[in-house]
Amino acid sequence: MQNIKAIGFDLFNTLITMEFQALKDALTRLTSSLRENGFAIEHNDFVEAHSEAVLDFLEQTKRDGKESHNRFWISTALAKLGHEVPPDNPHISTAVDTYFSAFIQHAKLIPGTKEMLTTLRQNYRIGLLSNFTHPPAANQIIAELDLEPFFEVVLISGDLGYRKPHLSVFEALIDHFGVEKEEIAFVGDDPEADVAGALGAGLQPVWTTYVRDNNIIPAPGVVGKGEKNPDSKVPRISDWEDLLSLLDIE
Ligand SMILES: [Mg+2]
Repeated sequence: MQNIKAIGFDLFNTLITMEFQALKDALTRLTSSLRENGFAIEHNDFVEAHSEAVLDFLEQTKRDGKESHNRFWISTALAKLGHEVPPDNPHISTAVDTYFSAFIQHAKLIPGTKEMLTTLRQNYRIGLLSNFTHPPAANQIIAELDLEPFFEVVLISGDLGYRKPHLSVFEALIDHFGVEKEEIAFVGDDPEADVAGALGAGLQPVWTTYVRDNNIIPAPGVVGKGEKNPDSKVPRISDWEDLLSLLDIE
């Protein structure tokens, strides 16, 4: 890759993985939190109503690119079970944080990631652009894995209002770096959100298949939606050594 001045990274299944049981644990914590706050719900009924709500909201997101938030999913699921509660109810807010505590606990850094970022930071501007509905949880994962010092910018879709592959989120990254878009590489695992998104915005995508190549089963809830492999012209990396050689770094 030529003339790269800045590198953007995706977070999930690119820099970190999520242990498989994360979503199951998160849903258990979510129903417990709601029950403790007085909602008479059965775990299985709630989980079913919640997953229906999630599918509906994700359909909408697919159409318009706008990020959604868990409080709407929970409010909708509760309404299906006869509890009319507005999304901004404080018990829902507590339930969202309790739900994400499981994801924070089950997040794991991909081996060698800090060493790779340490090396790249000597030559490039480094930023993070993640699709994540609840920014406080994303920021906490980044902080707990000690990734904060590596990024001069952390952009989360929940703050931006739109998700990758929407053009606006890549534009936010370009604006931040203040270099030509062609001078920015973007590394991510999702063929649609990361690779097609970066290409559409004029960045140079790098497709990482570490998770796939190591037969890691991605946790439900954090898996990319792009099914189709990128064009073979898009550079593909399987580990951080591949990225360093792509950038001509010894
Ligand atoms: Mg990802």
